[in-house]
Amino acid sequence: MPTLPEVQKLGELLKSYRRRGEASTGPRVSLQSAALSDVGLVRSNNEDSAYAGPALVAVADGVGGHAYGEVASSVAITTLSALDGDIAGDELVYTLANSVQAANERMGELIAERPELHGMGTTLTALLCSTGNRLAVAHIGDSRAYRLRDGALRQLTTDHTLVQSLVSAGSISAEEAATHPRRSLILRALDGRGAAHFDLSVLRVVPGDRYVVCSDGISDVLTDDEIAGKLGMGSPVDAVARLAVSALEAGSSDNLTCVVADAVEGRPEPSTSPVSVGAVADWHG
Ligand code: MN
Repeated sequence: MPTLPEVQKLGELLKSYRRRGEASTGPRVSLQSAALSDVGLVRSNNEDSAYAGPALVAVADGVGGHAYGEVASSVAITTLSALDGDIAGDELVYTLANSVQAANERMGELIAERPELHGMGTTLTALLCSTGNRLAVAHIGDSRAYRLRDGALRQLTTDHTLVQSLVSAGSISAEEAATHPRRSLILRALDGRGAAHFDLSVLRVVPGDRYVVCSDGISDVLTDDEIAGKLGMGSPVDAVARLAVSALEAGSSDNLTCVVADAVEGRPEPSTSPVSVGAVADWHG
């Protein structure tokens, strides 16, 4: 169950919806997306998973150094992917939050059934679209979401990492964080133990926006300027390929996964079917 502060935060988010009054009946956008996941040049298995559909894009990075990261990221993405459909704006935040908690609880159940899974965990960064041109962001860990609007890139999530907490406290600079030896140490993950402490936010979507969610195999080796440059042209398929190739060229030693989604007016093309990539594509849990 969400803790009291989380419930209060949800209430505040929902209040702003009701004031605007258009959340359940307003215009709608859908996402035209492409996804790519690759094991990378160094690792022997891919612990990342991702999903790209008309209302939902999500990435999960099975926590490195823990057992069974593939299972953790697959559980997260499989659970979230059930949301991909028509979501009314006034249900958006609760729907997304409940699903993240459900994924966390499912992980706890699996660990109870199979003790060898103890210690597994995953990041999760998910964007869910609703009527009323709203987009909810759920986030835990160090995967990232960005938005490109009118040529300007904005990071929509804050890493739950040791180095980000040092940057926020003013102890080190962002430049020092980028090369810090412990920059991959995450402070929060979905791990099936207790309530999940994830971030939630809601944004307005504008047709023409381009969104990307990616694992740290991409964002750890590319600067914001480089990401903006790779995202700035071509289709989502072109963009995911450019991001992945650039991360490999930059020497990424991790699994790398990205989903790029364009916000377009109206319902999705009937020809576009959702895709799952990475560990979840081979998972039969
Ligand atoms: Mn990673």
